Amino acid sequence: MTNYNRVYNFSAGPSMLPIEVLEKVQKELLNYEGSGQSVMEMSHRSKEFKKIAEDAEANLRKLLNIPKNYKVLFVQGGGTLQFSMVALNLLRNSKKADYVLTGTWAKKAYKEAAKFGDIKVVASSEEDTFTYVPKIKKEDIRPDADYVYITDNNTIYGTAYNYVPETGDIPLVADMSSNFLSREFDITKFGLVWAGAQKNVGPAGVTIVIVREDLLGHADASVPTYLDYKVHVDNDSMYNTPPCFSLYVAGEVFKHLLETGGVAAKQKANEEKAALLYDYIDSSEMFKCPVAKEDRSLMNVVFVTGDADLDKKFVAEAKEAGMVNLNGHRSIGGMRASIYNAMPKEGVETLIAFMKKFEAENK
Ligand SMILES: *Cc1c(COP(=O)(O)O)cnc(C)c1O
Repeated sequence: MTNYNRVYNFSAGPSMLPIEVLEKVQKELLNYEGSGQSVMEMSHRSKEFKKIAEDAEANLRKLLNIPKNYKVLFVQGGGTLQFSMVALNLLRNSKKADYVLTGTWAKKAYKEAAKFGDIKVVASSEEDTFTYVPKIKKEDIRPDADYVYITDNNTIYGTAYNYVPETGDIPLVADMSSNFLSREFDITKFGLVWAGAQKNVGPAGVTIVIVREDLLGHADASVPTYLDYKVHVDNDSMYNTPPCFSLYVAGEVFKHLLETGGVAAKQKANEEKAALLYDYIDSSEMFKCPVAKEDRSLMNVVFVTGDADLDKKFVAEAKEAGMVNLNGHRSIGGMRASIYNAMPKEGVETLIAFMKKFEAENK
C-alpha cells in the first residue's frame, strides 16, 4: 500500500474514510467511468449520476435490509436541519412529541421541535452531565404522542443506546448521525432514522433519512417545500440538485462495506476496537472513562485524567506522535477518541501504546 504519510485521525467529524475509497475516488476524479468528466462536474440528471444515486440507495438497502415500506432519502442541511424536518413532518395529529435528553444534540433537537408543538422531556441524564442513557419505559410516554425521539449515539458525551426503547405503536425516531452503519439494527423498530454523513459514512453535505411510508404526506401546507419529506420521496431525492459529490463518496463507502462483510463484520471490528480501549482505560491509574459501562459508545470514547493541564499535554503530545483530534468537545474538555468504521485496529493499538507511555512518563 502506498504510504501517504497519513495520521490517525480521531476526529468526531468530519472524520476518517476508508483508504480504499479515497484511492478509488482519486482514480476516478478526472474521468468518471469514461464519461470524460468528474462527478463534481456532472449533471445530476445525467445517466451516470442517476446510476450513482440509484446504486447508493440499493446498496444501503442491502446493508441494512430495508424493506419496501421504508423510503430512503438523501438530503442537504446536515444533521441540524433534521431537528426541524422531523418535527415539521411528524407532528401530524396531537402535535405532541416526547424527547429524551442525552446530550447536546438531543437538547438542540428538543429546542427546535418545541417551536412547532407540545414537546415533553420524558427522561434526561443532564443532572449527571449526560454520563448515562436513561432507561425509558412505555409508561413514560404520552399515549397520544406523535413520536418519541432519541439520539442513538451521543457523540460529545460518549454514550449510546445499547437497547431499542419499546414505544409500542408510537413511532420511534432516532438520530444515528454518529453510529449509522457501525452496528446492525432493525429498521422496522423505528419510524424514522436519520444520519448526517460526515461522522461514519462519507464527506459532509449529504444526510440520510430512512422513513416509514405511512409517516409521509402529513406536513402542513405552510411547511417549506424543501422541508417536506414527501417532496424528496416523490422526486427520488432529486427535487433540486442533491449534494452530488458527497452522495457519490457515501455510495462508494456503501460498496466498500458490502465488499468487506457488511455491517455485521464492521460491528465485530468496532466491538473489538472499543473493548481494547475501554479495557485499557479501566485498568489505568491515570485515565478514567466517566460513562456508565452499559451505556458506552462504540464510536466515541471519552476519557479524562482529572487534571485539565495534563489533558492538554496529552492531546499535544499525541498530535506530535501522529494521532490528531484527541481533544474532547469544546463544551466538556478532556479527551475523546472517535473510532469510527474507518479507524483501523492498528490506530487504536497505537493510541493505547501511547497512553501507556504517557502514563509511565507522567506519574
Ligand atoms: C454531528 C451531529 C449532529 C449535527 O450534525 P450537523 O451535520 O453538523 O448539523 C447531530 N446529531 C449528532 C448525534 C451528531 O453527532
